Amino acid sequence: MRTIAVSEVRQAVGDLLRRAAHHLPEDYLAAMRDARGREQSPTGQQVIELLLENASYAEAEEIPTCQDTGMAILFIEVGQDVHFSGGEIEAALQAATRDAYADLRKSVVSDPLLRINSGDNSPALIHWRIVAGERLRITALQKGFGAELMSRVQMFPPSVGVEGARRFVLETVERAGPNACPPLIVGVGIGGSLDSVGLAAKKALLRPIGSVNPAPHIAELEDDLLGAINRLGIGPQGLGGVVTALAVQIETLATHIAALPVAVNLNCSAPRRASVEL
Ligand code: SF4
Repeated sequence: MRTIAVSEVRQAVGDLLRRAAHHLPEDYLAAMRDARGREQSPTGQQVIELLLENASYAEAEEIPTCQDTGMAILFIEVGQDVHFSGGEIEAALQAATRDAYADLRKSVVSDPLLRINSGDNSPALIHWRIVAGERLRITALQKGFGAELMSRVQMFPPSVGVEGARRFVLETVERAGPNACPPLIVGVGIGGSLDSVGLAAKKALLRPIGSVNPAPHIAELEDDLLGAINRLGIGPQGLGGVVTALAVQIETLATHIAALPVAVNLNCSAPRRASVEL
């Protein structure tokens, strides 16, 4: 049994969220540099250049890469032999979120209808997964809601098949147009149930850009969709071009014989994610 103090977790998660707001992931920056060479529209090239410049200023000056510093979403893998000491772990995670957002924009309303700002960007959304052993790995996603708002889920009958799923992904990106702040990362969940398919799409966004699904037929669908999305002509920030998305990342789940759930979770040109292992 390994004991981890909740104060240590609070410090680490606060640092993680602050770092994620200022430093975009290296795989994303590499994909953008590559996209700069592929973009054919001069305006699109200029937009990518500006986004890269923005990312490098944010890193150098330790300022947010975008004014919307998002909602904090935490994915936690905890070993079944870990014991937390010194307080409640969920309370520590929420305290870490409040700590980190003291200097970041507060974008969370505590009631969806009364629309009252919680004042400290809490609560973070927390997803737990119990794994073997004694490790604790925390991944933070700071999700901007321009892209979240344009995301969709649909419970299809299985008869729509792969073509129906494919059409839904394409329609989602087309309807989003400039509103999701492309170049996008397109996370797709297929299978599961209403609740789990959305989470699968979001978890797909945690994969590094350039990774492919290990199942050959899904890898093929990722590649086919990326090509089709980039032929839509939306381009960087919706100003036209061939770089509408940098990646399509699909996660699949077992599902019921009566359904083919599909979720599309879009991530924008400020895809903030970072991980820490304690
Ligand atoms: S969608 Fe992303 S890039 Fe656009 S405003 Fe929101 S956080 Fe910023």
